[in-house]
Amino acid sequence: MVKLAEWRGKEVFRKYGIPLPQGAVARSPEEADSLVATGQVPLPCVIKAQVLAGGRGKGGAVQFANSRDEARAAAASILGLEFKGERVRELLLEEKLPIARELYLALTLDRAARMPILIASAHGGVEIESVEDREIDRQAVHPFPGLTGYEKRRAAKVLGLSGAPAKALDRLLEALWRVFVEEDAELVEINPLAVVGAGLVALDAKVIVEDDATFRHPEYAEIRDDRTPLEEIAREKEIAFVQLDGNIGVIANGAGLTMATLDVLKEFGGRPGVFLDLGGTDDPKKVTEAFLLMAQAKPTAVFLNIFGGVTKCDTVAKGLVEAMGQVPKADRFPLVARIRGNNEKEGIEILRAAGITSVPSLKESAQSVVRAAGGSA
Ligand code: GDP
Ligand code: MN
Repeated sequence: MVKLAEWRGKEVFRKYGIPLPQGAVARSPEEADSLVATGQVPLPCVIKAQVLAGGRGKGGAVQFANSRDEARAAAASILGLEFKGERVRELLLEEKLPIARELYLALTLDRAARMPILIASAHGGVEIESVEDREIDRQAVHPFPGLTGYEKRRAAKVLGLSGAPAKALDRLLEALWRVFVEEDAELVEINPLAVVGAGLVALDAKVIVEDDATFRHPEYAEIRDDRTPLEEIAREKEIAFVQLDGNIGVIANGAGLTMATLDVLKEFGGRPGVFLDLGGTDDPKKVTEAFLLMAQAKPTAVFLNIFGGVTKCDTVAKGLVEAMGQVPKADRFPLVARIRGNNEKEGIEILRAAGITSVPSLKESAQSVVRAAGGSA
């Protein structure tokens, strides 16, 4: 999944002729100041944090300025902010347009219908998840003819547009469809699409490019994706490590068991915060390395759920005990282990010697870790 920052998404939009506010990117308050001073960004203007998370409007990461001084101050206050865990390094400055209405428009894939889908709502400018379902119109779009007059007319009706703005929507939808197809997007979203005078302007842009198509788009190769710093380290060490929102660490082996373990924890009211898939490692050093990485994510409790196959239970136990010894006292956390399969007895013995009990039942072990993490089980 290659998620483009707003300004990159808008650059793509511009290529296809989608109407946009006049604007430019700044990476320091000085740069922001000079964009305004030179008129590259007209006043009044909007200053927007270029982070991948949504909800910037509500979160103070979108600000308005009426003067050069205000623009500079806003830029200084947003740059360096941490917005939903992401440091703000870039700003987009744009002219502030007088908007009459905020609409929502998106093209994405409906995996159940196995078709692209056009989503439209007259309630734009807020997260689509918070819009009532009956206020959202969804139309499957057959990929061969693409968007036809029928879908466009229905969208215009849903959005309450007629006359010149409806014509503008026609052209915009044609362009949006081309972005979706030619850029191999899995999502293109304009929220809000603003009614400005008799025209329409894309005030925001969200473009996500399908991973499997990245070979067709070398231009996106450089773009940083949404890996966290720890995930980046893990990637270099070839460890499958993913951070989530919760507080329980999960160490399992194989994608299937790892996913099932996350599901079981959720079932018992736990919130997985990070998971690590040991895969088919048979090297205790690698297990130690992976475990130390997990410790850096500071989980409240950790659930080790291993089925010994290629990765033998005693290998994991050795690596684990070794790693536990290296974790600083202040960073230690309760650990619940469940190891079954190849060399189970040896593994359990190694753990026992280090004071860790293996709980054979999946249910009991999962409940016990959820309790240790302060959850509800
Ligand atoms: P998001 O909250 O992260 O999706 O950020 P958006 O780019 O959607 O901006 C949030 C809100 O800022 C929009 O819904 C608009 O209400 C407002 N906004 C952004 N650009 C303009 C503009 O040019 N004029 C006006 N009046 N409001 C704007
Ligand atoms: Mn938006």
